[in-house]
Amino acid sequence: MKNLTNNEVIQSEKNGIKYLQFRKLLEYNDKIEHYYILKNDGINLKTRGKPENIIIAKEGYKKIFNSLGMDYNNLVKPIFTHSNNVKVVKEKENKNGPDFENESLNEVDGLITGKKNIILAATNADCIIIMLYDKEKNIIGNVHSGWRGTLNGIIKEEILKMKEEFGCNSSEIICSICPSIRKCHFEVDEDVMDMFKEKYRYTNMLDEIIYKGDIKNNKQKYYIDTVLINKILMEEMGIKDENIIDSNICSMCNPDILHSSRVETQEKYGVNVSLIYIK
Ligand SMILES: [Zn+2]
Repeated sequence: MKNLTNNEVIQSEKNGIKYLQFRKLLEYNDKIEHYYILKNDGINLKTRGKPENIIIAKEGYKKIFNSLGMDYNNLVKPIFTHSNNVKVVKEKENKNGPDFENESLNEVDGLITGKKNIILAATNADCIIIMLYDKEKNIIGNVHSGWRGTLNGIIKEEILKMKEEFGCNSSEIICSICPSIRKCHFEVDEDVMDMFKEKYRYTNMLDEIIYKGDIKNNKQKYYIDTVLINKILMEEMGIKDENIIDSNICSMCNPDILHSSRVETQEKYGVNVSLIYIK
């Protein structure tokens, strides 16, 4: 089976659970723990769709947490809605279980905490996930940025909130971009392309952000580099180039090992999850 290890990430397996870790974040593994969980047989973390999916997903999380030696009760998992909302987690709400899609976590796509043992989760199946770490202030973040989140610049909201709430300094923040759909596969119609064009014209980088694709069914297709947009936004927020770490992995190019909603189709797709916590 293919292994996704490259210059930025290492693929490992523990007790049957396959995951990626960023080399850069592993330098701080005395302070934080992080995982990007890959496709694993018998585990389906998707909560949308049928009511029983929540039960199946919770079993999946339990299995992952047990296998990797984490306490399932420390999990904080929002309901991602492609919003621009970022929430600072000051403490766990549920004392005897995870904060699993609690009402207070509805329409939350970015999480931040400075508290130990709170495990922040973000799921994706083509969307972008960015794990953040302020190595000076010891503050972590986990952001779900799909194309709508990217269009609305949720990564800027996340970094802004880290600064406001914790006095974080951009030059100390590491941004790690997990696997997601990439410009090789993120095909859109003219309406979506136009939204990106309008929003990011000011960067003077439209030639690198938008590519013209083929004409299919009489429709001109376009490819958007949403990862590049997130990198541009990080730079605007003062993140150092050396602290922008990109896994460089496309979910649609690796469907045997990563969930991809475009490959697995809308109804049946599973999700990958990023988990990060302060020790
Ligand atoms: Zn691809």
